[in-house]
Amino acid sequence: MEADKMDENEWDYHGEGNKSLIVAHSQKCVVLRFLKFLPHRNMTAEEVSQHLHNILDFGKHVMKQFLGENYVHHGVKSRCEKEMDIGGYAMCLPNLTRLQTFPFVEHRPIFCVEIKPKCGFIPCSAHTTKEIKKKVCRFCMHQHLKVLKGKWKRISKYCPLDLFSGHKQRMHFALMSLLQDSQNNLKIFKNGTLIYGCRDDQEYLSDLSQLAHHLKPFFFPANGLVAGTQCTKNILKELIHVLTNVLLSTNSDTGRVGKMKSIPVAQGRNYCEASCFYTDFLSNGKHKMETTGLPKGCILYKALQTQMLDMLDIEGLYPLYKRVEKYLEEYPEERSTLLLDGPYDEMFCEKLNDLSVDDNGSIEYAVTKIQQYRVAMTAKDCSIMIALSPTTQEECFESRPVIKASKSSFLYSVSILDLDLKPYENIPYQYKRDCKIVSHYLKSSQARG
Ligand code: ATP
Ligand code: MG
Ligand code: MG
Repeated sequence: MEADKMDENEWDYHGEGNKSLIVAHSQKCVVLRFLKFLPHRNMTAEEVSQHLHNILDFGKHVMKQFLGENYVHHGVKSRCEKEMDIGGYAMCLPNLTRLQTFPFVEHRPIFCVEIKPKCGFIPCSAHTTKEIKKKVCRFCMHQHLKVLKGKWKRISKYCPLDLFSGHKQRMHFALMSLLQDSQNNLKIFKNGTLIYGCRDDQEYLSDLSQLAHHLKPFFFPANGLVAGTQCTKNILKELIHVLTNVLLSTNSDTGRVGKMKSIPVAQGRNYCEASCFYTDFLSNGKHKMETTGLPKGCILYKALQTQMLDMLDIEGLYPLYKRVEKYLEEYPEERSTLLLDGPYDEMFCEKLNDLSVDDNGSIEYAVTKIQQYRVAMTAKDCSIMIALSPTTQEECFESRPVIKASKSSFLYSVSILDLDLKPYENIPYQYKRDCKIVSHYLKSSQARG
């Protein structure tokens, strides 16, 4: 990209998260991702550049190994003074609301669904002290605290364990719940513009019939302007069907065996007792919760495997953090040899492969578990982007996978974004938050009776 030939008029605000702000180019399929807060306010330009370099290396060398070449776009560093009126650096990434095959903004219609699925398993670590954590998932517990704090108006019926179950009915339920209460877990873009979900604190689009109206030409190109609840229902059903199939598809996987070891599939329970799918299920007199499991290589499988690197749970991890902190108090000069802050290279990756949980009391053991935990937390917070563009039978893209709905077919691409390694310094905060979420959940479930 010839950065110096661009000007600020070609960039539009695209969206933001807690840590970054994104602008999208109007003609090219790229975005710039600016970090909102820098880790240390007094960083020199050199340090800022190094920090960004670390983020990029982490995506390139670590997350690609876990999630697969095709799903991860690590981006490149971009120096921005020339392009815009903002000094400093940004990451330049492909615009994932567009199909990745075309470098320029296409005039073919396209829509993109972004899902932030959150943690898809229940911990089975021997270190968890609260029984409830083995029954109810973190997302479902956290909902209660978020509603109390006024972050959201009501508790969502979405439960990540339903989405990650691989069982179509449960996945449909999870996706429908995400559509009904998208919170910050679901967004939909049409031709690159947000049409559904939360853009920032101010803008929140949540009218399902309006969404259906937007998506109608994608799913029912032939019939005219039929509207009404049945029509909305049918469109959402088509949408959910397509999303489920993409999430379970293994087409984008290179099939190359990655360097990373796979983690034995959860020994913990594969459903959450707070899930509405589960409670409905019980009230229908059924007992055995169905799971089909995820096909190896599908995006959900890859994300879940990475999340499961958190094998000890924060309760088992926090003492290891304290061990390292104590050691660093005595030997502060050792901080750089422990490689807590990178570099994120092959050696770093290699160490993540040590899945043993036999604590020999060493600093090395503690550091390995901490790094695995940080990678897992990153995967628990990432977003999956699914871009879909209608295609006709006549159009032939031999090597491109196509997904079929009842009355239309789509070219699609699947990617994962927001892959910054979670900071080491966050661990005590994570520990406190875990305690808070659990104790509030217990308190409020007592009140519910
Ligand atoms: P969080 O608060 O979830 O940690 P963050 O501050 O790390 O978020 P991102 O998730 O990377 O920021 O980006 C914020 C939003 O911007 C995303 O949810 C997505 O909607 C949009 N976005 C980010 N990167 C891209 C991209 N490459 N293409 C299209 N949209 C993007
Ligand atoms: Mg994000
Ligand atoms: Mg983030």
